[in-house]
Amino acid sequence: MPKSIITVDMNKAPRDQDPLPHNRWHPDIPNVASVKPGEEFRVETMDWTGGQIKNDDSANDIRDCDLTPCHHLFGPIEVQGAEPGDILVVDILDIGAHRGDEWGYTGIFSTENGGGFLTDVYPEARKAIWDFHGIYATSRHIPGVRFAGITHPGLIGCAPSHSLLAEWNRREAELIATDPDRVPPLALPPLETGIMLGSMSGAELSKAAQEAARTIPPREHGGNCDIKNISRGSRIYFPVYVPGAKLSMGDYHFSQGDGEITFCGAIEMAGWMDLHVDLIKGGCERYGIEQAMFKVSPVDPQYSDCLVFEGIGVGEDGKQYYNDVTIAYRRACLNAIEYLKNFGYSGEQAYTILSCAPVEGRVGGVVDIPNACVSIAIPCEMFEFDIKPNAQGPRKVVDSSAADLARCT
Ligand code: ZN
Repeated sequence: MPKSIITVDMNKAPRDQDPLPHNRWHPDIPNVASVKPGEEFRVETMDWTGGQIKNDDSANDIRDCDLTPCHHLFGPIEVQGAEPGDILVVDILDIGAHRGDEWGYTGIFSTENGGGFLTDVYPEARKAIWDFHGIYATSRHIPGVRFAGITHPGLIGCAPSHSLLAEWNRREAELIATDPDRVPPLALPPLETGIMLGSMSGAELSKAAQEAARTIPPREHGGNCDIKNISRGSRIYFPVYVPGAKLSMGDYHFSQGDGEITFCGAIEMAGWMDLHVDLIKGGCERYGIEQAMFKVSPVDPQYSDCLVFEGIGVGEDGKQYYNDVTIAYRRACLNAIEYLKNFGYSGEQAYTILSCAPVEGRVGGVVDIPNACVSIAIPCEMFEFDIKPNAQGPRKVVDSSAADLARCT
């Protein structure tokens, strides 16, 4: 087993961990560990909320979740010899849940607290708890499904330089200014409330808090990409922006569907990840790389028998949009949710299945004006019953009045 260079105590709060996590991006956060190119090592993490969500049957913790200290990230890790302009090569060797903590959760966040892709349709907080059985997940809140997770870090990336951080803040502030009172907000500006920047404290912390970037959006450095296929066995190529690269990670996902549509839409877990790092000196300029990229894993579940739902860029009210992939994705999701209700699932259950199971979302076309076309593919094999249309069906096999997502109590 590779040596653990960052460990967590699951019985302690984030502020009592050693080393301390961080929950914003900033180039001056002190390194908590140091590795050499060629080294293998393990990084343990809490879940993205820092232990706020419990394995129970109430969604109160989702409704009341404090997002100001999220995500909790573990690092930064110095990669010795890394300099701005290098490519940091990161292999994800393996990833899993902490022993004795083999469970995770998916949350539908309320419109007032995070929202989600379909928050206008599903505005209330809900929670599903998942139990892990090796590579498989099942939920007492969503009967009739069992699937293999594509386990991955939702969030991993190198620290930005001061100039890159300033650029993030400039462009996001400009967007927020177009509608500053929107709920949910258009973007999240720097926020001192709830901030943790590792061991930084006092005036140094307060100064950095004015510019430290929130962790919600993915950016050029990778960050919160929530790409399910950056999974065990994949190799990531990160641009290096600061000396030592300062690699951080967190928000491990047992499984996630493309789009992670319920917001907290993966199966969120605390766990460990084994990594190997290397450097390509001066690689960014030689390859013209300005943004992280990755190579997929040779290991993936074999889900070839899929039912695929299409969506086009036309609103439910009949409004015609021009090449709008977001509207098309929304319609594909709504089509799939309505279809899964045929088998007895509640809308929230179907929404959650799309969000956290290994569902593939694809852009079919963006040239056939005026309609963008997308598709989402649902593996038929993950259901205990046949979901394909036939002459006799559909058959209601799930009783969502007996088992549904946890509500607020
Ligand atoms: Zn996550």
